[in-house]
Amino acid sequence: MLRGLRDLDVARRRVLVRVDYNVPLKDGRITDDTRLRESLPTLEHLLQHHAKIILVSHLGRPGGKVVPELRLDPIAQRLQELLRRPVTKLNDCIGPSVQSAIAQMHPGDIVLLENVRFYPEEEANDENFAKELARLADCYVNDAFGTAHRAHASTYGVAKFLPSAAGLLLEREVTMLSRVRENPQRPFLAIVGGAKLKDKIGVLQDFIGKVDAFLIGGGVAFTLLKAQGARVGSSLVDEKMLDEAHRCLKTAREHGTEMVLPQDVRAVRESAVGAEHTIFPAREIPDGWQGWDIGPQTIQLFQEQVVRAQTIVWAGPLGKFEQPPFDTGTREVAQAIARSGAFAVIGGGDTAAALQREGLAGAQNIYFSTGGGATLEFIGGRKLLPIEILRKG
Ligand code: AMP
Repeated sequence: MLRGLRDLDVARRRVLVRVDYNVPLKDGRITDDTRLRESLPTLEHLLQHHAKIILVSHLGRPGGKVVPELRLDPIAQRLQELLRRPVTKLNDCIGPSVQSAIAQMHPGDIVLLENVRFYPEEEANDENFAKELARLADCYVNDAFGTAHRAHASTYGVAKFLPSAAGLLLEREVTMLSRVRENPQRPFLAIVGGAKLKDKIGVLQDFIGKVDAFLIGGGVAFTLLKAQGARVGSSLVDEKMLDEAHRCLKTAREHGTEMVLPQDVRAVRESAVGAEHTIFPAREIPDGWQGWDIGPQTIQLFQEQVVRAQTIVWAGPLGKFEQPPFDTGTREVAQAIARSGAFAVIGGGDTAAALQREGLAGAQNIYFSTGGGATLEFIGGRKLLPIEILRKG
């Protein structure tokens, strides 16, 4: 059980709230404000209690220095529209200028601190930096589930120096994902796609022995196929990962976890990318052709598995879904999930965005998690320090 907002005295006090406003930006404009919207219930709760709200977030990867394009001004502006109240954006996140701005706040005021990753101390979880953040407030709320797999100063260190609790979003994520982590109904499937095996190998390893089967698509599949000796043409392969892919397939076999790899793929000719596409057997892709989506036989195979499943976790698109018709596999498998009775968790970023666009956001049996890495690490059974520190007792 986590300490929640009900356990924290926030009335008229200064509350430092770690949010995850790491939103996609294009030419300085926010292209998807889901993460802002998801933080609103916690902010409304704090406003009802006349708290002074001090928001802290990162944006992108500035690498510990000031990067003007990664300032949080567009975020403050959008948040102001969503809340219909002023949000004062500060140009730093610690120090005298921030302290004096906060000293002038009234109950119900909202400030947004500058990108916390402009300081290298943030990602280093530097204790003095965490103390500097802590001195800005009377208590701390963590609502940044998307960053909960990173023990940084603003997600973890600061909680040691202030009375702290989980925000409503973080609590909801932990409740929903715990259903899958602790007591998944079987058959339990993990669908894994996305670009690179390197990013997903940890997930595969965590889930071996826990799930009944993996359905693998996207770029991730080709390194595994190649490790089995398949001809994958010019498809995305991470040569450095071949040994590890081999070991992963072996461990899965030893644990009786089925690895369902694509049987066929929709491929494009390298020299005329996108213009010409053909279906090939996944193990016999000619040179010069790249697999960009799972093929019709694989879609059917995946759908059959989905229909029988009771619990599904999905991370990463099954093809280059940004470019139709290479969204077909992702879309058709998603529709099968919506029709199935399985409880499905869809993690993070790309997949969630693609599926929401397809109108699946309302499907009752699908939970869209705001996390990517955090969602998978949590379900896979890892301890996430920023969450652990908020546990009661
Ligand atoms: P990730 O962030 O690792 O989940 O990867 C998402 C990206 O993977 C998307 O931009 C997709 O276009 C890309 N992707 C999916 N399937 C493939 C594929 N077969 N080849 C290359 N990229 C792919």
